[in-house]
Amino acid sequence: MTMSANPDRVIVVGAGHIGIACAHYLRQDGYDVTVIDQGDIGGACSYANCGFLVPSHVLPLTSPESLLNGFKSLVQPRAAFRVKLQLRPALYRWMLEFGRRCSRRQMISAGKVLHTILDLSIAEYRHLLSRPEMECEWQDSGLLFVFRSAAALQKFAATDSFLAEEFDVAASLIPGSDLQDLDPAFREGLAGAYRYEDDGYVRPDKLNTSWVKWLSAQDVTFIDHCRLKTVQKKNGTITSLLTSQGQMKADRYVFATGAWSSRLAADLECDIPVEPGKGYSVTMSKPAVMPRYPMLFPEAHIGVTPFEDSYRIASMMEFAGFDETIPSFRIEQLQDSARPYLKNPTGPAIEDTWYGWRPMTWDSLPIIGRVPRLSNALLATGHNMLGLTLAPVTGKAIADLVAERPADIPLDALSPARFS
Ligand SMILES: Cc1cc2nc3c(=O)[nH]c(=O)nc-3n(C[C@H](O)[C@H](O)[C@H](O)COP(=O)(O)OP(=O)(O)OC[C@H]3O[C@@H](n4cnc5c(N)ncnc54)[C@H](O)[C@@H]3O)c2cc1C
Repeated sequence: MTMSANPDRVIVVGAGHIGIACAHYLRQDGYDVTVIDQGDIGGACSYANCGFLVPSHVLPLTSPESLLNGFKSLVQPRAAFRVKLQLRPALYRWMLEFGRRCSRRQMISAGKVLHTILDLSIAEYRHLLSRPEMECEWQDSGLLFVFRSAAALQKFAATDSFLAEEFDVAASLIPGSDLQDLDPAFREGLAGAYRYEDDGYVRPDKLNTSWVKWLSAQDVTFIDHCRLKTVQKKNGTITSLLTSQGQMKADRYVFATGAWSSRLAADLECDIPVEPGKGYSVTMSKPAVMPRYPMLFPEAHIGVTPFEDSYRIASMMEFAGFDETIPSFRIEQLQDSARPYLKNPTGPAIEDTWYGWRPMTWDSLPIIGRVPRLSNALLATGHNMLGLTLAPVTGKAIADLVAERPADIPLDALSPARFS
């Protein structure tokens, strides 16, 4: 496949964390970049997630434990991890392929790829977030994994040792007796916590807003409420996009369409097995005693993020198709789950309730690379639970591919061609 000498126009479809990051690195290379989105810019899964930047999260979802939880969820409709039975062959194929990969061997091999790209992305973020334009409440605070029961803490000790030995990802153990000194928001009697020092967090909506503002000032065009309808092609090349705002032409096309990506499979002539994995968040005004640190409560499967003016609890993984509801029991569940850990688990007022569809792949790895049968098309999707963290490394890899520079990520493991 050859690319023409000096392409100057690129259209990025999808303005989540991934599309915005692609626009950034493409613009840095001098391309004329337009980003379109069917909804608000940064308004889908990249809007109200936990905001964690987590190089520690090298372990993929494809693990023996996930398989067990998946089976349990079939009989527990309120489980945090839930599969809603549907008459959709694509979902069953996805589940089957996912299940096949839930082995220790696959967990380690996917983990190695994730480790490489997570570290590269965090290195890029440190550079990017030090720019004054990026006003997004970035805190290089570390992330706490907090445990209520001694048994759960002890079980996690094995995971922590595994992470240290296999991936060189190390944490410090904080005994339960020291937790309140570290963060007065904790209740008494917790078993302890592990602190992953290299993790941090941002406010995701502010990251999008400030990044888009910065890119707009550099002449990147963002067009909201512009839906890609079909792709027009000739001789293995995209000639234009038909959108809800008319025909659009460029030299290169990047598809960063998140959970919707499988809908482009026919247009792009390749399999894109991405399923929406729905999560929820509730954002509240600041509680009387606000946590100082971002934290995960693995026994309850929730994450808590203390922003400057508000406070968020987020979680859940539902395979329920493109279900747009926010059941009140899910929001209550989020708030209740924080109660055993925090003195003030809820803020005085709910500011926002939200859902997002994570773009889930069956091998837990993102899809980054050239579309096999179309010479001027690239895919940047399938970032599962890590799209915020992996945005810079993805954008940089896409720019490298467009410029035909060697990329510093394991492209074969991430290529769209792995599904054909
Ligand atoms: C509860 C929750 C917590 C999370 N916490 C974290 C976290 O702490 N850290 C982390 O790294 N990740 C986290 N994630 C995951 C992260 O949010 C996602 O991986 C990430 O947002 C995916 O980004 P994206 O740009 O691929 O998708 P999106 O943000 O969904 O963007 C895709 C865009 O494509 C547009 N689009 C789709 N089809 C078309 C079309 N035909 N025409 C035009 N536009 C189109 C959509 O409108 C959308 O705006 C969390 C997710 C959830 C749900």
